[in-house]
Parts: sequence; C-alpha cells; structure tokens
Amino acid sequence: MIIDTHAHLFYEDIVKDIDSVLERAAESGISRIIIPAVDYKTSIRTLKLCDKYEMLYGAVGFHPCDIKETNPDDIKLLEELTSHHKIVAIGEIGLDYYWDKTYIDKQVFFFKEQMELAKDKNLPVIIHTRNSTSDAVEIIKQSYNEKLKGQFHCFSGNETDLNEILKLYGFYLSYCGNATYKKFGDLNSLLNTPVERMLSETDTPYLTPEPHRGRKNEPSYLKYTLKKIAELKNIDNNVLEETVYNNCMKLFFTI
Ligand SMILES: [Zn+2]
Repeated sequence: MIIDTHAHLFYEDIVKDIDSVLERAAESGISRIIIPAVDYKTSIRTLKLCDKYEMLYGAVGFHPCDIKETNPDDIKLLEELTSHHKIVAIGEIGLDYYWDKTYIDKQVFFFKEQMELAKDKNLPVIIHTRNSTSDAVEIIKQSYNEKLKGQFHCFSGNETDLNEILKLYGFYLSYCGNATYKKFGDLNSLLNTPVERMLSETDTPYLTPEPHRGRKNEPSYLKYTLKKIAELKNIDNNVLEETVYNNCMKLFFTI
C-alpha cells in the first residue's frame, strides 16, 4: 500500500475529473491521499472533498506564496477547521524566497504562528521551502519541542540542512517526481536520507515523474517515483514502499 501525502486535488481541472483520478490511484495501490491547502479558500475546498471521498484527508494552512492578503486574525479561522476529523496536518506552510522576497517578515510571522497552532492541536506540519531551507530549519529549531513534528515536502535543501533536520526527532523528508529526471539536483540529499525518515508524495499536479513528464501529475504516478528512489538507493522496492508507508501512517495517522 502507498500513501500520497501531497496532492493538490482542489484545482478545478482536477475536481471535474476526480472520480477517475481516484479510481486510477486506488488501482495503482494508493490507499490514502492527503490534500494540502494553500489558503483559506482551498482549505474549505479540501474539507468538502474529504467529506465526499473516503480515501481523502486534508491539511489546512497558509502557503508562504499565498499570504499577501492574509491577516493575523485569519489564524483563528484555520483553527476552527482543524476540528474536522479528516484534517491530519497544518500545511502547507513555510518560506519561499524564490517567487517573492518582498514580504519575508510576513512569511516568517505566519510560519511561526502556524507551527504554534500545530503544537496546540497536536498536528504535524507540512513544510514548503524554496531557496529558504536553512532559514526554515533555524526557525523550526526555535519552535521545536517534543510536540512539533512534520514533513519537509519536496526537499531541496543542502546536506547541512539535511543533517540538521535528521537531528529533529519527528521530522521526515520527501522527494517528488523530479527524482526521476536526468538532471535531478538533489540526488546527494536523497541518497543521504535514511528510508526510515522518508515519506511518499507526488505534489500533484506538479513535477510529473518519467515516463509521464509533460503531462499533469496525479497520485497514480507515485509508483514511478518510488521505483526510481529504490533504484537510486539500491534497495528493494517493496522494502522502500513498506517502510515509507509505515512512516506516513506514523506521522499523519498516529498509529
Ligand atoms: Zn504543495
């Protein structure tokens, strides 16, 4: 069994097709999918999808690229949504220095506040970083206690970042379909990430793995990424799938 911990299924062009997307996912061995929201509107859409489909779970949160119009009071709105029984995380949250560096203070503020909310609600965090991993790790270290746990989704930090994260008990990392590309930039990090600290994700609809690169990504393609990771790390694909599945269950479904 496989869990896709990161699929943005709330986009309209996916929702119109969702029955067949989920059918193909189930046929490919996917048992559960987590939808991470990026703002309040997509958090509501995520809840609605979770209500309708058994295999879907959600994360509510404000993405660093979507907080320009967000107010500190909006954290209260998020908090209300966390009482829904299928909300399994706060996310995605974090820092992004790639798209816009003009409001970093605001990014840091929401990152910290949402980590506090996660600790309060005993939920893991789903972390997005782009050109900002070292700063994110520093901020997490300030907020860190035994209640804080989470996932570095689509990890793209360097080896120093990786080693710092591995010291934080309860934190996991995951890699996306770009791991199947010839020019995959984060190979060293992937090779040095122990399978015991790894999760599985697609980042649907982005980062489609080979052999479907160029098309819209979907959860059923996750198997290609896992197969490639097993190959790169020179381990048995079944062992990888089973270990990673257990990690996903442990972090998000507290077994
Ligand atoms: Zn995402």
